[in-house]
Amino acid sequence: MIGGGVIGIEMAMIFQSFGSKITVIEAMPRILSFMDREISALIHKILVARGAEILSGVGLSKIENPREFKLILADGKNIEADSVLVSIGRTGDLSCLGGEGIQTERGKILVNDYMETSVPGVFAPGDINGKKMLAHAAFTMAETAAENAAVQLGLPGSVKKPDLDHVPSVVYCFPEAAAVGLTQEEAERGGP
Ligand SMILES: Cc1cc2nc3c(=O)[nH]c(=O)nc-3n(C[C@H](O)[C@H](O)[C@H](O)COP(=O)(O)OP(=O)(O)OC[C@H]3O[C@@H](n4cnc5c(N)ncnc54)[C@H](O)[C@@H]3O)c2cc1C
Repeated sequence: MIGGGVIGIEMAMIFQSFGSKITVIEAMPRILSFMDREISALIHKILVARGAEILSGVGLSKIENPREFKLILADGKNIEADSVLVSIGRTGDLSCLGGEGIQTERGKILVNDYMETSVPGVFAPGDINGKKMLAHAAFTMAETAAENAAVQLGLPGSVKKPDLDHVPSVVYCFPEAAAVGLTQEEAERGGP
């Protein structure tokens, strides 16, 4: 499993429960690095207790011989695997934007707090703006964008900003892990 984020850990636990021997390779110092240190440490412990190997703080540099999946890590370590699942993040496909003058940054469409892009009247709620890449957040952002667009057209309603500071997130591993708001580390340093 390349990537120890939400999807990587969910899939690692699923395949582990099917009897697969799992190795998780995570470039960050710990898996689920956006979550509280205690939570990621506990999930790490559970995975290892069930037989997984977790290599964190080291990235994959290349896959040699894709047929036999010989993986070379950044520290020179070689790993062989029967299959490899790559889950190292998602980015938007902006190829359809053409030259419309919509500002983007690293695969994301830039929006203001009202979900409006740099082109007035064009809104980009959801994953494409990279603010909170979660289904329920996308839904809330889309509702807000629709209402703000309606107000611009003179329809009844009031301009709104979605609250993206208190979005719950869940890792559907077992046991499940959930969080909302700041982690302890973020709170101690005064913010995200
Ligand atoms: C494996 C996986 C597991 C996930 N699990 C969870 C979870 O448990 N909980 C959670 O909250 N979130 C989860 N997510 C994230 C969640 O799926 C997204 O945050 C959510 O789908 C974002 O909604 P969206 O409408 O912004 O984008 P999307 O759902 O990606 O929808 C975008 C749509 O636009 C279409 N499209 C793209 N380009 C064009 C184009 N040029 N013209 C027309 N149509 C186009 C695409 O085909 C797609 O249907 C998961 C994501 C993945 C990949």
